[in-house]
Amino acid sequence: DSDADTLLTVDSLRKSFGGIDALNGVSFEVSSGTITGLIGPNGAGKSTTFNVISGVLSPDSGTVTFVDEEITGLPSHQTAQRGLVRTFQLAREFKNMTVLENLMVAPEGQAGEAAWRAVFPGTRDDVRHQEEEIFERAWEMLEFFDIDHLALENAGSLSGGQRKLLELARALMLDPELLLLDEPFAGVNPSLEERLLERIGTLREQGHTFLLVEHDMDLIMEHCERVIVMHQGETLVTGTPEEIKSEERVVEAYLGG
Ligand code: ADP
Ligand code: MG
Repeated sequence: DSDADTLLTVDSLRKSFGGIDALNGVSFEVSSGTITGLIGPNGAGKSTTFNVISGVLSPDSGTVTFVDEEITGLPSHQTAQRGLVRTFQLAREFKNMTVLENLMVAPEGQAGEAAWRAVFPGTRDDVRHQEEEIFERAWEMLEFFDIDHLALENAGSLSGGQRKLLELARALMLDPELLLLDEPFAGVNPSLEERLLERIGTLREQGHTFLLVEHDMDLIMEHCERVIVMHQGETLVTGTPEEIKSEERVVEAYLGG
């Protein structure tokens, strides 16, 4: 029922916390190779949607399908192994490790180590080879984000913007097909934001797909080819930026009309 290039399908997700319905029927699709925006007022359920898709939370009902496989409720490290990785609204780096070490241990609970261990058996040379491969990839990430000069700095000493770069670099360590980015530009200065957007554009050209939560409507309109609008735990409308802009219900949701 969905077209060939649909990468992610979210169908009728519901999730409540105590008496609060955080998700009240969330449905949308993300096409492969797009940057898709997920917008909505504070409390609309965007982060909860990310938590359910990436397996941080299980939904009360509804399904998540990724590359034609239902993954509803699969834990994060398993969604990561399938190529679906998310970043958090608040970066979760290990402050007492260096920037390089943060990349080499890979995103917490998402990863790397178990996946690598499955690929490499445990002889001395295999382990050495495995460490080298992880190091090479980590160094590529540092160069890609222009933070190689910070490799041996403690992650705890980074600026807010640099932490955002590190968070994205960590997510990319497993070469995910779909990246869910929760407010990746919050607290990032304009020049760094531009660099991040440029990087995201490059990664998209390389075949990665992005689902992006972001408050800046101008940014969303400029960089996303599809936009999903959430309001009070529901998906309100989905469309191109032009379609969204002309939707009365979107204007109402944002302006409180
Ligand atoms: P958004 O990211 O769009 O701002 P959230 O998904 O963070 O929205 O929150 C949606 C609703 O669910 C809000 O009312 C929020 O207070 C509530 N909520 C989110 N997570 C929890 C939680 N762990 N426990 C209780 N309520 C939560
Ligand atoms: Mg949020």
